[in-house]
Amino acid sequence: MKKIKAVLFDMDGVLIDAKDWHYEALNRALGLFGVRISRYDHLHTFDGLPTRVKLEMLSEQYFLPKELHPFINQLKQRYTMDLVNIRCHPMFHHEYALSRLRQEGYRIAVCSNSVRETVETMMKKSELMGYLDLIVSNEDVTKAKPDPEMYRTAMERLSLEPGECIVVEDNPNGIAAGRASGAYVLPVQSVYDVNYEAIAGMIQKCEVADG
Ligand SMILES: [Mg+2]
Repeated sequence: MKKIKAVLFDMDGVLIDAKDWHYEALNRALGLFGVRISRYDHLHTFDGLPTRVKLEMLSEQYFLPKELHPFINQLKQRYTMDLVNIRCHPMFHHEYALSRLRQEGYRIAVCSNSVRETVETMMKKSELMGYLDLIVSNEDVTKAKPDPEMYRTAMERLSLEPGECIVVEDNPNGIAAGRASGAYVLPVQSVYDVNYEAIAGMIQKCEVADG
């Protein structure tokens, strides 16, 4: 019997090329208060963390009163949605991969540090919503990635064990969350690495691995 039963995808940088959108939207919101983060810091320090956590880190570095966080967060979400509406579009190799995995009987989930509205909008606009069994957003957990709670929640809801799941992740915070959940982890560099061949190859490797 097959060991692997599900593939749990991160969203940003894995199914959606949204790194720049989050960067631009956050800087647009922060710019109103005279704060700007560099591309280097965005990629090396902030990438993959929820906006709430990024703002806490920024308040320690800059004069950015914590009372402003909810407002900046709201603005950032609105600016992100503006960019999503303009730039988010379907990618053939993702649609093909998810539809074929589903046809082969694998369960599919998206586990993202983004808020639910952002995840649902991006999944609809990229035409991937119909292939998903489950979405876990940062509103479904108390601790975002790098904590493994998000992946553990997905496994619980799918009634699966860690050894039956492959996590696909693109950055250190997400990879740490996947590893800590006990699942197999397929690290990718970008949305272009996420294709049927790469995932099927990983499934094959896990099927013959011990444990
Ligand atoms: Mg990511």
